Amino acid sequence: ATMPPLLAAIATAGRHGVLVKSAVVMEQLGTTTRVAFDKTGTLTRGVPELTEIRPLSGSPFTEDQILRLAAAAEHGSEHPLAAAVVRAARRRHLSLPAADEFSARPGQGVSALVDGQFVQVGSPPALLGTDDLATQVAAVVEELQQRGNTAVVVLCERNPVAVLGLIDQLRPEAVVAVSAVTGLTGAAPVLLTGDNAATAGQLAGHVAITDVRAGLLPEDKVAAIRGLERDGERMTVVGDGVNDAPALAAAHVGIAMGGAGSDLALQTADAVVVRDDLNTIPTVIALARRARRIVL
Ligand code: ADP
Ligand code: MG
Repeated sequence: ATMPPLLAAIATAGRHGVLVKSAVVMEQLGTTTRVAFDKTGTLTRGVPELTEIRPLSGSPFTEDQILRLAAAAEHGSEHPLAAAVVRAARRRHLSLPAADEFSARPGQGVSALVDGQFVQVGSPPALLGTDDLATQVAAVVEELQQRGNTAVVVLCERNPVAVLGLIDQLRPEAVVAVSAVTGLTGAAPVLLTGDNAATAGQLAGHVAITDVRAGLLPEDKVAAIRGLERDGERMTVVGDGVNDAPALAAAHVGIAMGGAGSDLALQTADAVVVRDDLNTIPTVIALARRARRIVL
């Protein structure tokens, strides 16, 4: 007996490195009209490098002391930015104190008690008050962002003590993969990110994406997808993080990047990319379309 087309397509997708969880998903994937990509860990490698530590004037800490506090607080986080901070501390041979009362807020940052001090590390809009945003902190944040950095602030006892600059490289295949998706759907994909608009806009320019939605919390990503679907789009969302899980669940089809992707994203998604290659996205959409044509 010959295999039904959608099951055959699932088998082929598997050989190309994408695990599609059901025939229904394969069928829906074939009707995709628009794709949305998460930025960090999806269009980028997800392995950012700490490039700069900028102590703020009035801060009592040296660069190493700041890095030590920030890395101790980040130790419990699975976020790529957290891993970069911890790696940078290890590279400087800093010994990390244990942290208590660790807490993470997806899309915002982390907090913990380190050496009895309340340390927070995360996105400037989430952690800074309007006073800080108007002052020296904001100037340093903006300067870093203009040069393509993701800026993260470090607070000790609720006072901003430093800004960290981190840079994540575009995946080498991103330009080609985005262009292939644009060719298939007839519209450039959407970029969804919790990162700031300046950094996101620069990266989007490199891959020819113009619809950039930045500064999004996980629930804002869901709202963006729902809005596009209300306008008649059938969205396929590609993401990797805990912060993407709600959007992956809300979309017509959610695809998680396997590799370094979070367990929650993998469980929530309708399909998982197990070969670390964005070109699998246009490949699997094309496969799904062909299978549908045979079924119909
Ligand atoms: P993206 O949508 O691009 O994958 P996220 O939603 O994961 O990004 O994160 C959005 C922003 O929240 C980051 O740019 C950073 O400023 C902040 N953030 C989130 N988690 C952390 C963390 N563990 N450490 C530092 N900053 C964080
Ligand atoms: Mg991500």
